[in-house]
Amino acid sequence: MAGEYNGSSKASESVFKIPPIKFTKLFINGNFVDSVSGKTFEAIDPRTGEAITRVSEGDKEDIDLAVKAARQAFDHGPWPRMSGSERGRIMMKFADLIEENVEELAALDAINGGKLFSHCKAMDIPGAARNLRYYAGAADKIHGTVLKLSEGFQGYTLREPIGVVGSIIPWNFPTIMFFMKAGPALAAGCTMVVKPAEQTPLSALYYAHLAKLAGLPDGVLNVVNGFGETAGAAISSHMDIDKVTFTGSTEVGRKIMTAAAASNLKPVSLELGGKSPLLIFEDADIDQAGEICVASSRVYVQEGIYEIFVKKLVEKANAWVIGDPFDLRVNQGPQTDEKQFQKILSYIEHGKREGATLLTGGKRLGSKGFYIEPTIFTDVKEDMTIAKEEIFGPVMSLMKFKTMEEAIKRANNTTYGLAAGVITKNLNVANTVSRSIRAGIIWLNCYTAFDVDCPYGGYKMSGFGREFGLDALNQYLQIKSIVTPIHDSPWH
Ligand code: NAD
Repeated sequence: MAGEYNGSSKASESVFKIPPIKFTKLFINGNFVDSVSGKTFEAIDPRTGEAITRVSEGDKEDIDLAVKAARQAFDHGPWPRMSGSERGRIMMKFADLIEENVEELAALDAINGGKLFSHCKAMDIPGAARNLRYYAGAADKIHGTVLKLSEGFQGYTLREPIGVVGSIIPWNFPTIMFFMKAGPALAAGCTMVVKPAEQTPLSALYYAHLAKLAGLPDGVLNVVNGFGETAGAAISSHMDIDKVTFTGSTEVGRKIMTAAAASNLKPVSLELGGKSPLLIFEDADIDQAGEICVASSRVYVQEGIYEIFVKKLVEKANAWVIGDPFDLRVNQGPQTDEKQFQKILSYIEHGKREGATLLTGGKRLGSKGFYIEPTIFTDVKEDMTIAKEEIFGPVMSLMKFKTMEEAIKRANNTTYGLAAGVITKNLNVANTVSRSIRAGIIWLNCYTAFDVDCPYGGYKMSGFGREFGLDALNQYLQIKSIVTPIHDSPWH
C-alpha cells in the first residue's frame, strides 16, 4: 500500500477547533441576502462526505441583481472615481483584516476544500494579503502616456477601468483564485461579481464580509454562490458585464468564450487546464528531484537515473501521510468532492486497462471521505489517456527519455501549455529546454513556485491572458486616446 493513512477525526480535534460557519448567504450590494428562489445547497466536508452547512444558491436572477449593484457602483459610485492611493489604502486595510483572521480562513478552505490547514495558514491566506498589498501599491501608478502626434495636434492616453468584471473560479485554490482576479480588478477601479466554485463556497463569503469592514463601497465586490450551468452561465452571457475572467477546465472555458461572443462580445481571459511535464536530466540531484516531482503529473526521467529514481520515488510515496487536513503530520488531504474522487479513480482504472504498470497506490483510502493513495504509473505511452488528459489528482505517469531533443519533443506533445519543470545543473540544457517548451511558465530546479510578482498563464489550450504581476492589471484596464489641436481648430 502506498502511503500511511491517518484519517481519524481524533487527529483534527487535537490540532484545531473548527469555528462555527458565519456566512452562508449571497453577498449583493453590501448585504448578505437569501437567493431570490430561496434555494440552498450543501457545502460538503470532503473528510467525511457529509454536509457542513447549507449555502444560498444563486441563479440568473441573483446574478442580475449583483450585476445591477456592480453597474451602479461602477457608473455612479466612488470606487472608480476615487484616487488610486485611496483605493490602495482600502485594499491595504482589507489585507490587514485577512491576516487578523488567518486561522479561521485557513480552516474554511481546509474543511470545505480538503486543503492542508497548515498550507492554507502559511501560504494561501497570507498570499491573499500579499496579493492585495501588491496591487494596492500599483493602484496609484496607473497612468497613460503623452502622444507626439502629427503637426498641430497633441494627445494623451488614459488607462481606464474596464467596468463590471465577472469572475468565475474553481475549487483547487479557493482563496488564491479569488484574489488573483480581485487584486488587479479592484486596483484598476473595476467592480465585480464573483462566482466561487460550488464545491468551495465558504471562504469567499468571509472575504466579502471583510471587504465591507475594510471600507469597500457597497456594490463593488459581490459574491454569488451557485452552479456553473446556472449562475456561471448567467455571468458569461450577461449583457451588462464588461469582462469575464475565468479559471477552470478547458471545456468550460470554451463555453464561456462562446457565450461571451454571442452576447455583448465581452473580452475574456481564460486560465485553463494543463498536463504539465517535468523533465529530470541525468545530472540532477536525485533527492531534490524526488522532492520536486511530487506535485507533477507527467514526469520524464533520463534513462541513466531512471531505475534509481523510481526506487526513491516509491520509498517516498510509501512514507507519504494521507489523512485529515487539520493534522500537521499529513502530506495529503482528501480530494475536494465525490465527483472529482470518482473521476480520479476511473482514470486509474483506465491507466491499468490501457497497459500502464501500476507501481504503487491506485486505491481509495479509508471507508469515508474522498481519500486516494498517491499513485504512480510506469510504462506509460504518450497516447494513453492518463498521459494526455488532465487528472487533477495524486496520479503520476513516469516516462523514460534518452536525449534532450527527445525530451523537448515529448514535453511539447500536448494540446496544453500551462507550465513545465526542468531539473538539471547543466546551464546549456536549462536554457535550451526553457526556451523550447511552449508553456507560460518554466520552473527550473523547482516546481509550482508562484509569486504575485511573476506572470502566470497558459499557451495553447491552457488559455490566454496573464494573472499576477503588473501584466494582470492590463486585463482590467482599457486605453482611451484623447487628441486635441495645439492651437485653434484646424477646421475653424
Ligand atoms: P470547471 O471548469 O468545471 O469549473 C470551474 C468554474 O466554472 C466553477 O465555478 C463552475 O461552477 C463554473 N462553470 C461550470 N460550468 C460553467 C458554465 N457552463 N458556464 C459558466 N461557468 C461554469 O473546473 P473544475 O473541475 O471545477 O476545476 C478544475 C479545472 O480547473 C481543471 O481543469 C484545472 O486545470 C483548471 N484549473 C486551471 C488553473 C490554471 O491556473 N490554469 C488553476 C486551477 C484550476
